[in-house]
Amino acid sequence: MEAENIEKIQANVTTNQNSDDSFREERLFVNVNRIYIITRIFLVIISWLFVINLVGIILHHQRISSMYLHAVIYSILILVNLYFQFVFHPRTYQKNINSSTIRYYENMVIFYISIVMISGSVISIVDQIKYEHLIIIMVNMLVCSSFFLMTNKQIFIPFSLSTIILLVGLPMVDSSSFDYYIQLYYVVTFVSVTLLVSRVMYKAFCDNYESNRRLKKEIETNHLLNQRLKEANQRLEIIASIDELTKISNRRGLHIHMDNLESNLNDNQQKFSSIVMDIDYFKKYNDYYGHNPGDKVLENIAGVLSGIAKDTSGFVARWGGEEFVYIICGENMEQIGSVCKRVQEAVYNLKIPHPQSEVSNYVTLSMGACSSNVSNRKEMQKCIEQADKALYNVKTGGRNGYSYVSMIVE
Ligand code: GH3
Ligand code: MG
Ligand code: MG
Repeated sequence: MEAENIEKIQANVTTNQNSDDSFREERLFVNVNRIYIITRIFLVIISWLFVINLVGIILHHQRISSMYLHAVIYSILILVNLYFQFVFHPRTYQKNINSSTIRYYENMVIFYISIVMISGSVISIVDQIKYEHLIIIMVNMLVCSSFFLMTNKQIFIPFSLSTIILLVGLPMVDSSSFDYYIQLYYVVTFVSVTLLVSRVMYKAFCDNYESNRRLKKEIETNHLLNQRLKEANQRLEIIASIDELTKISNRRGLHIHMDNLESNLNDNQQKFSSIVMDIDYFKKYNDYYGHNPGDKVLENIAGVLSGIAKDTSGFVARWGGEEFVYIICGENMEQIGSVCKRVQEAVYNLKIPHPQSEVSNYVTLSMGACSSNVSNRKEMQKCIEQADKALYNVKTGGRNGYSYVSMIVE
C-alpha cells in the first residue's frame, strides 16, 4: 500500500515536467552561453589576424589574391561573431521558453557552428597556397566538437559540409597527388578524432543530466512524502487528542493545551483558573438505565460544557470517566465562580431524569475550582490538583454544588 503511494507520488513528479523539452532547454542553455564566450575569443583572434593580413596586403605584393580572400573570410567571420556576441546574447535566451523557440535557437547554434567550421575549411584551403597546413580547420573542429553539445543529427551538418569543402577544395589548390593523399589522411584522421571527442563530451553531458534529473526527482518525491507524513501526523495528533465518545478534548488534548499556554507565559506570572467536575451518582445512573443511556448523558453534558468554554474563551476536556476539567487564563475567583454557576444551571436545565440520585430528580454535577497566579506548567497542574481537592469537599459535603479555593504560589 505504502509502496503504491510512493509510486503514485513519483508518477506525479514525472508528469509535472516535460523531460524532453527541459533537456533540450538545458543543452541549449549551455550552447548559447558557450557561443557567448567563444565569440569573444574569436573576435579578438580574428581581428588580430585581419589586421596582420591588412598589413601584409599593404607591404607584400606577392600572393595578393589569397590575402584578399583571407580578408573577405575574416570580415565575414567578424560580422557573424559580432552578431552572435551582441544579438544572440544569453540574456535574450529566456528559461521556460516554448518548443518552437527552442528549435529556433538550436538552429541558430548549428548555423554558427557550421559557419565557423566551413570558414575554417575555406581558410585551410586558401592557406595551402602559402603555408601548406590545415591548422585552422583543425582548431575550429576541435573547439566546436569539444565546446558544443550536439546530437548525431545536429553534428552531421557542420561536419559533413566542412569535410566535403575540404575534400573538394584541397586538390584544386595542390596539384601534387602525393601531397593530396597525405592531406586526405590528415583530414580523415582528424575528423574521426574530433567526432569521437564530440560524442564523448555529449554522452558525458547526457549522463550528468540524467543523474541530476533522477536526484531532483528523488528530492521532490522525498519532499512530497515528508509533507504527506507531516499532514498525516498532524491528523493523527488531532485524532489522538479528541475523546471518541464526547468529541471534546481528552486528557492528552488538555496537556497539549497546557503546553501551549505555558509557552505563551514565558515565565511571566498570569492568572489561571481550573474547575474539576464530576457527575453525581453516575454509577447508579448506569446501573438503573444501562451503559448506553449513560454514554448519551456524557455526550450531552460535554456539549453543554463545550458551549460554555467557547463563550468564555476557556478550554474543556474529558478528564476521564464521568469527570471533566475546565481551564482558563486571566480569570479571577469571582469570574470562575460565575462559570461554575453557569455550568450548574445549564446541566440542570438539561433535565435528565435521575431517579437514583440522592440530591436531585435530575442529573447534577459537583465542581471544585481553584484560581492562582502561575508562571509555569507545574503550577497549572498544582492548581488543578487544588480544584480536585475542592471537588472532594463538595462530594463529602453533599454534592450538586461547587466550591472554590485560591492557591498562593510560594
Ligand atoms: P459520585 O457521586 O461519588 O461521583 O458517584 P459516582 O457513581 O458518579 O462515582 P463512581 O466513581 O463510583 O462511578 C463512576 C461511574 O461512571 C462508573 C462508571 O459506570 C461510570 N462511567 C465511567 N465512564 C463511563 C463511560 O464512558 N460511559 C458510561 N456510560 N459510564 C461511565
Ligand atoms: Mg468520578
Ligand atoms: Mg461521579
